[in-house]
Amino acid sequence: MPEQLDQRRPNLGDYEDVCRKFSWERAAKALAGLPGGGLNIAFEATDRHVVEGRGDRIALRWIAQDKATREFRYRDLATGSARFCNALDKLGIDPGDRVFTLLGRVPALYIAALGVWKRGAVLSPLFSAFGPEPIKARMTIAEPKALVTTHRLFERKVKPILGELPFLKTVILVGGGEGGEDLDELLADAPDTCDIAATRPDDLAILHFTSGTTGRPKGAMHVHGAAVAHRATAEFALDLKADDVFWCTADPGWVTGTSYGIIAPLLIGCTMISDEEEFDAGRWYENLEREKVTVWYTAPTAIRMLMKAGSELPKRYDLSRLRLIASVGEPLNPQAVVWGREVLDRPIHDNWWQTETGGIMVSNYRSMPIRPGSMGRPVPGIEAGVVHREEDGSVTEIGTADEEGELALRPGWPSMFRGYLHEEERYRKTFAGGWYLSGDIVKRDADGYFWFVGRADDVIKSAGHLIGPFEVESVLIEHPAVAEAGVIGTPDPVVMEVVKAFVGLNRGFEPTEELRKEILAHARKRLGPAVAPREIDFRDSLPKTRSGKIMRRLLKARELGLPEGDISTLESEK
Ligand code: ATP
Ligand code: MG
Repeated sequence: MPEQLDQRRPNLGDYEDVCRKFSWERAAKALAGLPGGGLNIAFEATDRHVVEGRGDRIALRWIAQDKATREFRYRDLATGSARFCNALDKLGIDPGDRVFTLLGRVPALYIAALGVWKRGAVLSPLFSAFGPEPIKARMTIAEPKALVTTHRLFERKVKPILGELPFLKTVILVGGGEGGEDLDELLADAPDTCDIAATRPDDLAILHFTSGTTGRPKGAMHVHGAAVAHRATAEFALDLKADDVFWCTADPGWVTGTSYGIIAPLLIGCTMISDEEEFDAGRWYENLEREKVTVWYTAPTAIRMLMKAGSELPKRYDLSRLRLIASVGEPLNPQAVVWGREVLDRPIHDNWWQTETGGIMVSNYRSMPIRPGSMGRPVPGIEAGVVHREEDGSVTEIGTADEEGELALRPGWPSMFRGYLHEEERYRKTFAGGWYLSGDIVKRDADGYFWFVGRADDVIKSAGHLIGPFEVESVLIEHPAVAEAGVIGTPDPVVMEVVKAFVGLNRGFEPTEELRKEILAHARKRLGPAVAPREIDFRDSLPKTRSGKIMRRLLKARELGLPEGDISTLESEK
């Protein structure tokens, strides 16, 4: 790692000491606030920098599909979003109204998001790859008054269902076209300053639908005050500072794309990179080199694809500026951390959070040794526990190390969700005994590091053991032929469930019977016969959500011939 950069003081120094002294009240002071105690994400993200003399700094460097780049200063985002806010006002969009975006990574996305917040309206970003059905389902729940999209997406995905969206009053089209207002014209006609809504910290800012990995997606509601946590967690977990060049690869339709793809980097005042194009190994390394990215936030699925692309490729690029790589969304196999260290010269820092938590909750820090395969330790200000749910609905905390239980968090941090829209009962059920229950099974070791075992729904029960799919998948991935693995339990009359694995292979490997036996033998040797898969099926690719998570429930439903359930977030399978 480049010495000069590595010597920089990490934002998190002495972990225990920082945790002891930390309070969210004090963290809130890092934000400027509005007169009268208001707080608005968009003011903090743009105008504040202009007011404080940083308006000329580059906020966003956008890379188009054809690799042309465009730069936006903080001043540009401030005026662009003010124009958008004024346009919304003129179109009759009021504070509290929902505005949906159906956009890829294009500059208008940032302008629209910030403009929505300036208006005091509520942003709900959708995956641009959604088809008409998932769009309709989410819109029917949220009843947005406006949608920002492109003509192409509108024609293909919204027009066919428009008759069923009576609440939708306005469609704004990036690049113009028939069927909606032309964004460019709206912006050109609008003044470049606006009255920023004096939102309170508890006012709604974002409605984010969960990834739908376990079932029907839920609309998690987030408030302006969440910005306090976006900022603090980005400083602690991503070590993000104002002079960084930051690249978050998440899709705008996923919570990571908002919390860390828009809000956190702008609050901190660094330069963020956004690439319109989807994953491509060579292009990604090229971006890291050309843009001199210093902090990079990505996901295990992308890292596994980079691993699949081989260890030679990154050697062709100068990645010396990169000082931190972080990953979220799924468990990061220890093999990936090791690969990062060996091939990219830096480990990969895993962190854990959910749509519901709004921001990073558990993390491997730059200032602390990484334990490969662990999610790390709670961020300052977060109390995390491991609990058992009892039959009567009560919960008890597990005090002993390395015992499996559900990851629980003490409510009260600023980016905590405030409900699932129109699903009060579902929301209430996530709390018990003073904890928020995450639905993920974990262990905590004696040093306070958390280890992911599996989602509660995915954990396999076999011969009296609980088997976490992650452990089995991580061992499978150690085998040089295996690029990705998804593990499920299938019913067995004797032991209740047996482990079955679905495996995608690295380039140059053929799915032969011999290879199958070899991988099975490797797993048995490493895991023992009780935990190792009984069977392995080869697959070209595994079903994943659009946020890159392996959908084990779908593997299972297909295996057992059961209904597939809600697959609205399923990425099209190649
Ligand atoms: P749904 O709630 O609709 O089933 P989802 O839980 O996948 O979908 P998200 O909120 O996008 O929706 O994902 C959060 C979940 O992703 C976590 O609860 C956890 O299961 C998984 N996850 C995220 N980060 C990590 C990580 N670092 N290690 C292990 N699992 C992770
Ligand atoms: Mg979830």
